[in-house]
Amino acid sequence: MGFIQNSIKESKKMKRCIYCNKSVEDGIIINESHIIPDALTNGKITYANVCSVEHNQVFGDTFEFDIIEKCRRIRNFLNIKSKKGKIPSYYANLDIDGYKFDKLTSRFNNILDGSSYPVIKNEKKYLFKMINKSIDNESKHFYELIHNLQITEDLEFEELFKMLGSQNMLRLVAKIGYEWFCKEYKINGVLPDYTDIINSIVNENSNKSVVSIINNEKLLNDLNNELELGTHALAIYNTSNDRNAYVLFSFFGLILYKIRIRQYPFYIAKPTNSIDFYGFRSDGCIGSCKIYANNFDQHLVSLTSIDEINILKPSIAKIYANLLSIQIITLRSFKPFVKEITNIIKKNQFQSERLYDELIGLAHSTVITVTYVIYLIGKYEDQYNYDDTFQNNIKHLFNNTDKVIIHKNIKEELLLLFNSGEFLNYLLTGLSIFEKSYNKEIRKKND
Ligand SMILES: [Zn+2]
Repeated sequence: MGFIQNSIKESKKMKRCIYCNKSVEDGIIINESHIIPDALTNGKITYANVCSVEHNQVFGDTFEFDIIEKCRRIRNFLNIKSKKGKIPSYYANLDIDGYKFDKLTSRFNNILDGSSYPVIKNEKKYLFKMINKSIDNESKHFYELIHNLQITEDLEFEELFKMLGSQNMLRLVAKIGYEWFCKEYKINGVLPDYTDIINSIVNENSNKSVVSIINNEKLLNDLNNELELGTHALAIYNTSNDRNAYVLFSFFGLILYKIRIRQYPFYIAKPTNSIDFYGFRSDGCIGSCKIYANNFDQHLVSLTSIDEINILKPSIAKIYANLLSIQIITLRSFKPFVKEITNIIKKNQFQSERLYDELIGLAHSTVITVTYVIYLIGKYEDQYNYDDTFQNNIKHLFNNTDKVIIHKNIKEELLLLFNSGEFLNYLLTGLSIFEKSYNKEIRKKND
């Protein structure tokens, strides 16, 4: 354990860059580096031991920029905001009844609008099904015109596979693994045991063999079930087998990378039957889970080369299509609408007709959708489990009732519910459950 004590002693000294060992004495500034680039997560995970220009900025301008650009579609679907607070748009290759369109699109609003939902068609395409009836009077004509058309969007799976195995991706993955490890063990400056990993990050053309891809579909599925699809997961793993120290990194739940951080462990690792993962979810929340196995050295076998990523194509394609099909209901995406709904109720609680108009009748379709979900949360109050996350509760809720809410005409159903009496009580209960969860999961974290 001497190493850990030494590194703690080190950290009390002057901060040094973990890539070049320079400190302010060498005329550089030490930055807080985003371990996972902030354009790839709504959460914040940083380590303040990277020099500002030569390493932090150069990484941001080169391999990080490349991967961030190539992830526009995922970022759009998962509602991951840029520094300026914007959801990125992306080019969608749409095929509408045989006509091809290249369209720059920002899809997030459309999901909550309920105007379309994706259905997996095959590995190459997925189908946008239009709902049968318009819930938005303004665009009624548009829906009437297109609701019978078949619209498909090319998902460009090949582009995705290429990106996941690219040199820039491996460099980014090595960087994320190394910085996470340094943060966990409070490493300050350059230490000799880390020469391989530092080289693979700093030098564009260096061998990237420190990063491999784990070939274990079940393990990845277990992680996605525990932490929510679309989550980045990180874990430290010391093998008893080859005595290396590794970081495991799941990128949006699509693929699991194994990064060799150093060749000699701090101590001889005992065989372990569980690994602790930290999950950085797309809504900015942090989760954790334990994954169990009898022998991890057997379960964490890597592909022999990155080119073998082909073997994983079917499973990655399936996860990717699922990722793009989920309804994005998160604490953060709901918060502004919950606020609006609360204000509408305060203003109109004794004027039933106006309350109906503002919440449902004349409301924006997003407000209608959020009202409906919050109502359901309140109605099934007894099923809500505060020990679990909001996201998991939502998942359970829609398994128990109606799985995908945007399949139906919410507005018509809400009119019936509104007139049936208990509506407002359930809605108020739902709002208070939402606020409690928000305070627990997000406000607490930001304090
Ligand atoms: Zn540096």
